[in-house]
Amino acid sequence: MHEAGRIGIGYDIHRLVEGRKLVLAGIEVPFDKGLLGHSDSDVLAHAVCDALLGAAALGDIGEHFPDTDGRWKNASSLDLLAQVVEMIQKRGYRVANVDTIILAERPRLRPHIQAMRERLAAALRVDIDCVSVKAKTGEGLESVGRGEAMAAQAVALLIADQAKENTLREELNN
Ligand code: MG
Repeated sequence: MHEAGRIGIGYDIHRLVEGRKLVLAGIEVPFDKGLLGHSDSDVLAHAVCDALLGAAALGDIGEHFPDTDGRWKNASSLDLLAQVVEMIQKRGYRVANVDTIILAERPRLRPHIQAMRERLAAALRVDIDCVSVKAKTGEGLESVGRGEAMAAQAVALLIADQAKENTLREELNN
């Protein structure tokens, strides 16, 4: 049987470059730069993936979706997140809530926060009030503040999936 709850933390950073789309939580945000990387480089989705994997002690995103594997080239990171949620569910957990921070100097992200929460909630199979997205600038400091990079942090709480526990219990009793 599983313990009541498990917490996980995730962090990611990507370099900002010209000639790339800026994708955050599956939302294409209009901007003159985008994040560099192998997949769509959705820094927020990556941090959430790592928070979930961390909570379940299932390794990290680089282990499950290595950038040496052509399958993940330009992959939608929300699809990767949906796959992580499936892994979590197979282990008998569901997501209780997720809280996140995007660290970005520009552009202004507030107009996109609600849409990001909706996309994350759908991938996580939870209600929108279980997903928080906050945006912070770097106050002109370090790589984020100089506009060279965007970073994201996430924490996730997983709880034992009651339906799954009941099924396991029935199987044990039969
Ligand atoms: Mg990443």
